[in-house]
Amino acid sequence: MTSQPHFRRILLKLSGEMLKGPSGFGIDSTATMAAASRIKEAVASGSQVAIIIGAGNLFRGQAGSRQGMDRSCADNIGMLATCMNALAMRDALEGIGVRAEVQSAMAITGVLDPFDQRRADQLLNAGVVVLFAAGTGHPYFTTDTCAALRACEIHADAVFKGTKVNGVYSADPMKDPTATRYERVSFQTVLAKRLQVMDATAFSLCQDNRLPIVVFKFGEEGVLNDIMRGNFSAATLVS
Ligand code: UDP
Repeated sequence: MTSQPHFRRILLKLSGEMLKGPSGFGIDSTATMAAASRIKEAVASGSQVAIIIGAGNLFRGQAGSRQGMDRSCADNIGMLATCMNALAMRDALEGIGVRAEVQSAMAITGVLDPFDQRRADQLLNAGVVVLFAAGTGHPYFTTDTCAALRACEIHADAVFKGTKVNGVYSADPMKDPTATRYERVSFQTVLAKRLQVMDATAFSLCQDNRLPIVVFKFGEEGVLNDIMRGNFSAATLVS
């Protein structure tokens, strides 16, 4: 526990893929619990934590649309899938003693509270983790864009994008052994060099609102805690 965390409030964005287990699909309790433990570390660092989890482990609208489904219908299914992930994560967090609430952009009476920016602010100030479910509530968006949007709305200090790689590289490190990781990089450089950080809508929302993006490898013990203290040796800060 630090007296002064580097980030007072963050919006952590995780792909739904972080919740899938060895089967490659669905909500795996071991994977979900492991993710919850990492989130607990972030909370223990003293920062306020809001979370958005995608639905890549369950359903993505574009995949449904490719199979002939109406895009809006497919995206609605995708957004509902994010609600399932958020509920699973709330359950896992509460199971390890972390207070958590879900707010949804789609109404499901009796199961999900509606998104309410002021209420979210109060909960975060009280140390409660707030999970934002159902994306923006509108089709044709991604949960990355929703993460940028909600981060602006709750005045987060940064969007933390948890990925499978430990930051932003000059080229794809899986394909190019000479690729190097940026520790800090500007929005302008990301655009000029066409570096992959977030989708274009999400990225421009962050840039327009001077909202830093931290890209890091999610899942390893201690990494999130280091970043919370301002150590980017295993991450990239885009600002
Ligand atoms: N989605 C949407 N509007 C939003 C956010 C998400 O329609 O504001 C839908 C979309 O179909 C998307 C799915 O929800 O494919 C799951 O989100 P995403 O693909 O971003 O999940 P991730 O890749 O992060 O797991």
